Amino acid sequence: MTPLLLRAPSLLVDPRTWVEDGALLVEGGRVARIVRGPAAVRRASRSARSVDCGDVLLAPGWVNAHAHLELGAIAGRTPRGGDFGAWVRAVLQARAGCTAADFERAVEQGARASLAAGVTSVADICSTAGFARGLARTPLRHWALREVLDAHDPARTAGALALVRRALRTSARRGEGLSPHAPFTVSPALFAAAAALARRRALPVAVHWSETEAEVAWLERGAGPLAALLGPSPRLRGLELIERAGLLRAPLALIHGNHPARGEPQRIARSGAVVVHCPGSHAWFERAPFPWRVYLDAGVRLALGTDSLASAESLDLGRELRLARAAAPWLEPRALFAMATEGGALALGQRGRLGTLAPGAHADVLAHELRASNARAAFEQLTGVGAPLAAVWVAGRSVVRAGALAHSGEAR
Ligand SMILES: [Zn+2]
Repeated sequence: MTPLLLRAPSLLVDPRTWVEDGALLVEGGRVARIVRGPAAVRRASRSARSVDCGDVLLAPGWVNAHAHLELGAIAGRTPRGGDFGAWVRAVLQARAGCTAADFERAVEQGARASLAAGVTSVADICSTAGFARGLARTPLRHWALREVLDAHDPARTAGALALVRRALRTSARRGEGLSPHAPFTVSPALFAAAAALARRRALPVAVHWSETEAEVAWLERGAGPLAALLGPSPRLRGLELIERAGLLRAPLALIHGNHPARGEPQRIARSGAVVVHCPGSHAWFERAPFPWRVYLDAGVRLALGTDSLASAESLDLGRELRLARAAAPWLEPRALFAMATEGGALALGQRGRLGTLAPGAHADVLAHELRASNARAAFEQLTGVGAPLAAVWVAGRSVVRAGALAHSGEAR
């Protein structure tokens, strides 16, 4: 197949690499080369299908490090605000009324909405079976992080594990992973078995960790509102349970992390695990400010997620960037850009393959309608007011086109 050459006035290859008057040479769905300067672009054009992308900035597709696409089926049926218990009850009730077809449709719609917003990869928690059919009709790059939980009930442990083992055995898809739900819903035995399975199959893992004060109180002291629902507490912190199971190792996404204890950020940084913050979901529940500084000072790698449409308004990572900046205006726009690209890749164990346009990476590319004179100005706009998307490519194939590029005849 003829290589594809995407030309633009500016390219943001990764948070550190800015190229002017260059092009991206794409072969076999991957970035083959960054072409620098007009003369080199002219030479490369001779042996490639050359596309002038217009007055745009080419940048890597956003990587959504945490979503539950299936929960789009219950969007609009959950309350906002600080009563997490009321929210969980509403989710359970609304879910119970959904059919397999509802979840499948929600996954497909979520995938399409993600792509339209420039999210080319999603780390998606999957607890229903229909997601693969919903995804088959869209080109989204998708990690199915299969959810397991037993509510600390030994009678449920073996069944929960058998279900996910069977699902993994019969799956022929790429992008598999595992999500032992959270320390307060997963017994130490199930955590250990999930860790062994993840290691054996080299799967990325995602765990909801330290989202609410209620879970911290129950895990540490058997106290708080969860005590009435959950049986005896392990009397350990969540991170301790994760570490004892052998799960505190990359690739691991620790989702939320709103209440780290002293020393925990340092342990996370040493392990290479990534903490995933979901600004929209955080605002939905009116949580106290996210402990940005604690993590950044400890050198923890951070990523951004949207969470589900049961606790967020959209699956648009650009919106999450704006919310993060509004909540912590002192954050470096470059660091935020890195969280929405490389951070998600790291959480999935896909460093260098996702969230970058460096040679060898998947050619998942966004054309932002943005004219910036340097990288700093580009970061400022992308994480601030944002920019309209002129086009989105996944694996070098055009999946969204707007504006001038819609009429260019490129990659139909
Ligand atoms: Zn979640």
